[in-house]
Amino acid sequence: MDNRNESSENLRNKCAACFRQFNKMEHLVEHMRISYHSVHEPICGICKKHCRSFESLREHLIGPLPKQECKNIFSIRGCKFCLAILNSPDARRSHQERCQFLSINSGILARLANLGIRDNLGTIDNGGSARRAQVVALACKMVGGGSDGSLDLCGRVCLIDESENIIFHTYVKPTLPVTNYRYETTGIRPEYLRDAMPLKQVQRKIQDFLCNGEPMWKIRPKGGKARILVGHGLDHDLDSLQIEYPAIMIRDTAKYPPLMKTSKLSNSLKYLTQAYLGYEIQTGIQEAYEDCVATMKLYNRMRSQVHKIEDYPLASDPQNRNNFASWRQSELERMSPEQMLEISRSDYYCWCLDSRDY
Ligand SMILES: [Zn+2]
Ligand SMILES: [Zn+2]
Ligand SMILES: [Zn+2]
Ligand SMILES: [Zn+2]
Repeated sequence: MDNRNESSENLRNKCAACFRQFNKMEHLVEHMRISYHSVHEPICGICKKHCRSFESLREHLIGPLPKQECKNIFSIRGCKFCLAILNSPDARRSHQERCQFLSINSGILARLANLGIRDNLGTIDNGGSARRAQVVALACKMVGGGSDGSLDLCGRVCLIDESENIIFHTYVKPTLPVTNYRYETTGIRPEYLRDAMPLKQVQRKIQDFLCNGEPMWKIRPKGGKARILVGHGLDHDLDSLQIEYPAIMIRDTAKYPPLMKTSKLSNSLKYLTQAYLGYEIQTGIQEAYEDCVATMKLYNRMRSQVHKIEDYPLASDPQNRNNFASWRQSELERMSPEQMLEISRSDYYCWCLDSRDY
């Protein structure tokens, strides 16, 4: 076989998304079957390589082990926060000024720390006429229970709206005795919790607010009144509040694949805020409000990504179920890598889909 044929044969077996080469077409088909490449993956603005997460895109552009051509261009006109490529170094400068957020004024945080309770749960418009679901962010701060103080008990909770206004902010009186107030990080003193709102009442108020008049079993992702809930590690927060909420309404920055590590573990909120928003949080005493703001900003950034609109964006949509079915093997092997990418769909719900009307 001459060399020319061999290289064009290899090119035919190259994944159109992640550029991996395969010796045989059947191996590329197998790769496509399990990769769920899609228009929703973070994509290099230079070579168009698809990455599983922004972290792997960051490695591709900055390092360790970057792709040299992409790194060179990125270092001149790439945004280090959202990883977009701009047209010129000047365009990058003005873009980055908008892309980076300033940290929350420490004076505001100090005043918040003294704020006993704020409860606007009953006064928020129920959003019945809005075309898009309302979005709220929630964060808790935990004090310690149990004999060694390691059991997390919610001692403070905060809920904000999309404009970062506080909807609800209160100390919570746990149902179990507090054995460690973790003052250095929570700033919570025994007297703050002594007459605080009982957990049961907090739970009911937040639960009612999230469901917004809809029975839990009726909540559907689009067109209802229930609110989208944003947070970081929400399973843990909701557990501590004894709140149940449907997964389809939850947007968790700890579990959203594009924001996770290449190892598929969660990043900390502190890291995500530093890397993607460009400011510091959780430097001393931690405020639940500060966590709410960071998760809401991350959510907004992910939701505002511009991705190609497809009628059925998810691999789990019934219309896509047979795209990579095994009975299609020979048909798939005759397709070009681009054609296969064209029919490949995401295995996670991209938050850009929240910005679509229904
Ligand atoms: Zn691939
Ligand atoms: Zn998307
Ligand atoms: Zn690239
Ligand atoms: Zn940017």
